[in-house]
Amino acid sequence: MELDTLQALYVEGLRDLYSAENQLMKALPKMGKAATSPELQEAFETHLAQTAQQIQRLDKIFAELAETPTGKHCKGMEGLIAEGEELMQEDADPDVMDAGLIAAAQHVEHYEMAGYGTCRTYAELLGFDDQMELLQQTLNEEEETDQLLTEIALTSVNLAAMTEEGDEDSEDVGEGSSPASSAGRQTAGKTPAKKSADSGRKSSAVSKKSRSK
Ligand code: FE
Ligand code: FE
Repeated sequence: MELDTLQALYVEGLRDLYSAENQLMKALPKMGKAATSPELQEAFETHLAQTAQQIQRLDKIFAELAETPTGKHCKGMEGLIAEGEELMQEDADPDVMDAGLIAAAQHVEHYEMAGYGTCRTYAELLGFDDQMELLQQTLNEEEETDQLLTEIALTSVNLAAMTEEGDEDSEDVGEGSSPASSAGRQTAGKTPAKKSADSGRKSSAVSKKSRSK
């Protein structure tokens, strides 16, 4: 396709997203299998269902535009997934693997957010209000997923990963680390790594075995 208009660029962007989402449909179940944390497994399952819906939204948009969704391969997503697969082939401690999987998934979400944000804005400029609405819905889901992953990292996974070599005793101190805890929300999207590292250092009671699996 010749890129002579903003609409042509919009359609190319949508095709890129379509390819990205379809690649992700295959990658997310593998990431779920590689995860140990029940919260993280659930997050991957939930996002798989969302991803299927996101593809349906794109199908709707392509139908409205009378354009075909296929014909473009998203190399960016291919690269991000390849990095995730590299990680999954490592001989990693389960908690450390979970932390790595969260990082890989957050790279994916941020990449998608960039693509959807751009296409949403193009739809707005081009006067495709319904399409803008659909793209915004997906963008919101990607953002929520990113925030949920931050929460899971802050409330359990990163702490478990960083105390892996620590003491083996305090088996029962995982209570405060439910994903609904407000601790994650306060710092979501800010500097989670530093925050969790700091709180880990302060609390010697953080256990590596805060989960049943
Ligand atoms: Fe998506
Ligand atoms: Fe996503």
